Amino acid sequence: MAKKMNNLGDPLEDNLDMSDIARPVMVLLVDDQPFVAECLHRQLTGEKDINFHYCQDPSQAIGIAEKIGPTVILLDFIMPVMDGLTLCHFFRTHPSTRDIPIVMLSSDDDPVTKAKAFAAGANDYLVKLPDQIELIARLRYHSGAYINKLQRDDAYRALRASQIKLEELNMQLMKLANIDGLTGLVNRRHFDERLAEEWLRALRTRHPLSLILFDVDWFKLFNDKFGHLEGDECLKSIARSVQAIASRPADIVARYGGEEFIVLLPDTDSGGACQVAGKMRAEVENLHIPNPDSTVCPYITISLGVATEVPNPASDPNQLIKLADETLYRAKNAGRNRFSIATLPAG
Ligand code: GH3
Ligand code: MG
Ligand code: MG
Repeated sequence: MAKKMNNLGDPLEDNLDMSDIARPVMVLLVDDQPFVAECLHRQLTGEKDINFHYCQDPSQAIGIAEKIGPTVILLDFIMPVMDGLTLCHFFRTHPSTRDIPIVMLSSDDDPVTKAKAFAAGANDYLVKLPDQIELIARLRYHSGAYINKLQRDDAYRALRASQIKLEELNMQLMKLANIDGLTGLVNRRHFDERLAEEWLRALRTRHPLSLILFDVDWFKLFNDKFGHLEGDECLKSIARSVQAIASRPADIVARYGGEEFIVLLPDTDSGGACQVAGKMRAEVENLHIPNPDSTVCPYITISLGVATEVPNPASDPNQLIKLADETLYRAKNAGRNRFSIATLPAG
């Protein structure tokens, strides 16, 4: 993969402090007269940190600028083919050159001409041929400001990238905090939050809401026979199969603790919840996970308690969970591998 570059074409290192690096001044002179180039070049030869590039043909100036990445451009005002103002305008509109400082060079000291240069987007104006000290001072000043800007942009981009990464990690963390590590189902904490939300919604809509609480039958015997790791695998298989059954977008299957699971079925009446409970019971038995010491079936089975309510302001979700729990134990007492149904008396 190509290495990430900063605005100056240097590779971006992780944790790199950009301010530690002294950047060279990169001058691009665009002027049709080679003797001007010779003159200016000579003035700059003693400056080790100033690199000088010359372009005689204005029509190639943008291409050359893109290639060498100047930190300041010296631009001749009057040139054949394309004058300095037009080229200045092109530099300003081209995405890769629009922020590079431009110093206009002219033999004319007239304020109107200067005003035209600034209006076209020039940052500064020098009368040809400039004094060496003034030339170097201005090149360093504009170049330094531009390099600072690039460094700020790079730092901002790096900051933005790390912010995005942090947000992604936070999202992952939030998801992990809601997920049961063994089965991949949502955990009890998340379930309780969702139940509270759905409860309020059902209170407004006056629609029924159902819960199915279920527990693995004789799971201790399974663990004793095959070991805890096999027990974990068994719980994962059960989780997968019941989740596939409660398949409406608003349905939630959660691991409620140990070998106990809970299913939230919004907008579902007792009849619908019983259908789901019946399917879950059959599906788990049909997994054919051997549980030879079970008294009800040679395979792993579950017992389920179904509780339905149209929420009213006097009731609360915990009462419905309690009802589902009591109903589950009725199913256990009635022989296991079955579901029992409860409904709250109306009102
Ligand atoms: P019942 O039909 O009355 O529910 O009988 P049971 O044996 O399933 O009930 P009991 O409460 O006596 O035992 C539950 C067992 O479930 C004991 C516990 O070690 C096991 N268990 C709970 N959580 C896990 C788990 O995450 N992994 C494994 N392997 N076993 C678990
Ligand atoms: Mg059990
Ligand atoms: Mg149990």
